[in-house]
Amino acid sequence: MIQKKVCILGAAGVGKTSLTAQFVYSKFSEKYLSTMGVKIDRKTVDIEGTQVNLMLWDIHGEEKHKKVTTSYIRGASGMITVIDGTRPDTVDSACEILQRVDEALGKIPNIFLINKSDLQDEWAITEDTLKTLSTLGSPVYLTSAKTGDNVESSFLTLAKILITP
Ligand code: GDP
Ligand code: MG
Repeated sequence: MIQKKVCILGAAGVGKTSLTAQFVYSKFSEKYLSTMGVKIDRKTVDIEGTQVNLMLWDIHGEEKHKKVTTSYIRGASGMITVIDGTRPDTVDSACEILQRVDEALGKIPNIFLINKSDLQDEWAITEDTLKTLSTLGSPVYLTSAKTGDNVESSFLTLAKILITP
């Protein structure tokens, strides 16, 4: 079986832990427990007949992210960079993180998830921001960890990118 390490990155509160829980356990909680340290979940997915064991690394808080430790990302095959669709400032955090990783470790396949798509009334991401993001070379998906919308399909898309030579 192929094993792939994937790091979930993004500002605090964007939904990293919730997206991982929705993908792995099909569960959602409104409670906000800031993740302590690194939590590693695993899920095996079938990509066109190939079993891929995804090792999902969910790191805690923003302080850590400001200097995303290369030791945490090291060995990662892919990244999921999460943005909160109700907080435009989290777009900047996502771009900074991506740039920092690029500089430290070179390009790693990435997808952007703009999360909380269920919060229509509070949505704050403009078409321009979407266009800018899509010029950075990573696929962009709108997700909701709450309803599960697009969560599985976007994780599977990354898995497919990771095993495609
Ligand atoms: P993390 O710090 O990035 O791991 O963020 P969490 O996964 O802990 O989520 C932060 C807060 O946002 C929690 O209260 C979650 O319940 C909430 N949340 C996460 N994803 C969604 C979503 O898709 N929709 C809504 N409405 N709330 C969400
Ligand atoms: Mg968390």
